[in-house]
Amino acid sequence: MQLNDKLSISPVQKMTFRGRSCYLKRDDLINPYFNGNKARKFDYFLNTDLSNYTKVISYGGNQSNAMFSLAAFAKIKNLQFHYYLKPLPLFLKKNPAGNFKYALEFGMNYIELPDYENFFQKMSSHDKTYNLLGEDSLLIRQGGAEKEAEYGVKKMAEEINQWAEENSIKKLSIFIQSGTGTTALYLQKHLNFKVYTTPNIGNTEYLLKQFALLENDNTKYPVILETENKYTFGKPYKEFYNIWKEISEENNVEFELLYDPKTLIALTEHNKNIDGAIMYIHSGGVIGNESMLMRYKYKKMI
Ligand SMILES: *Cc1c(COP(=O)(O)O)cnc(C)c1O
Repeated sequence: MQLNDKLSISPVQKMTFRGRSCYLKRDDLINPYFNGNKARKFDYFLNTDLSNYTKVISYGGNQSNAMFSLAAFAKIKNLQFHYYLKPLPLFLKKNPAGNFKYALEFGMNYIELPDYENFFQKMSSHDKTYNLLGEDSLLIRQGGAEKEAEYGVKKMAEEINQWAEENSIKKLSIFIQSGTGTTALYLQKHLNFKVYTTPNIGNTEYLLKQFALLENDNTKYPVILETENKYTFGKPYKEFYNIWKEISEENNVEFELLYDPKTLIALTEHNKNIDGAIMYIHSGGVIGNESMLMRYKYKKMI
């Protein structure tokens, strides 16, 4: 596979899940490396002249999908990529895997910060304090929670609006995973249909705060669906693995192990209250499955 900057329109296919027939939007197929909602969120930067910059800077988890996509993005744009994170577990340092491994292969330079939480606190608000980093640095906040994300996510909304029109679908409910909530928020803003989303990092309250950072009008927010059980982000759960395996095998499509399971559990729990057609968004990120599966095996859960 060749690294390239072509983002294709993602196809829609039928899928079945727990006896219900739904549509699946394959955002995982936008581009082999630069895919899923990160491709949507970084589309703006891909289409912008960045020749004033020499590097891309970001920060976050050591297996983040955004980290991998930014490494691919920086390589496409011929920029350096500096990624700040908490000190790495020794095991990962010695045995890079998953997103971390492939980001390194794309030339990521990582910086371990013992006082990570403090360092980036100032940057989580949308002000210009990050000029600290120097004007030749393009800072992209954790998970790509940037207003620029609207540009690419709007394209996704337009693709769905057009698809529904072509297929004469009048009532459609969209299900999408949330991390920072950026994708779900902008999708709802430009979509003619209702968006349902599940918080994977934090709870409803956290997600509402995230929405408020990007959009004042709360009538334009997606519907947030919680699951009955609480889950910690990034932690392996047997029921996560089971639901992932079930839907992947039933449809012969590899789903993602970090965000999809909880969202699919929410979909199951709220299924009977949703009428009309359902469209589930596959937001890519399957490269990260490698390290998640290793963790499941290491914990002898599979
Ligand atoms: C990053 C990511 C998300 C979260 O997206 P937000 O815009 O931060 O809500 C969801 N699913 C997958 C597969 C991701 O990689």
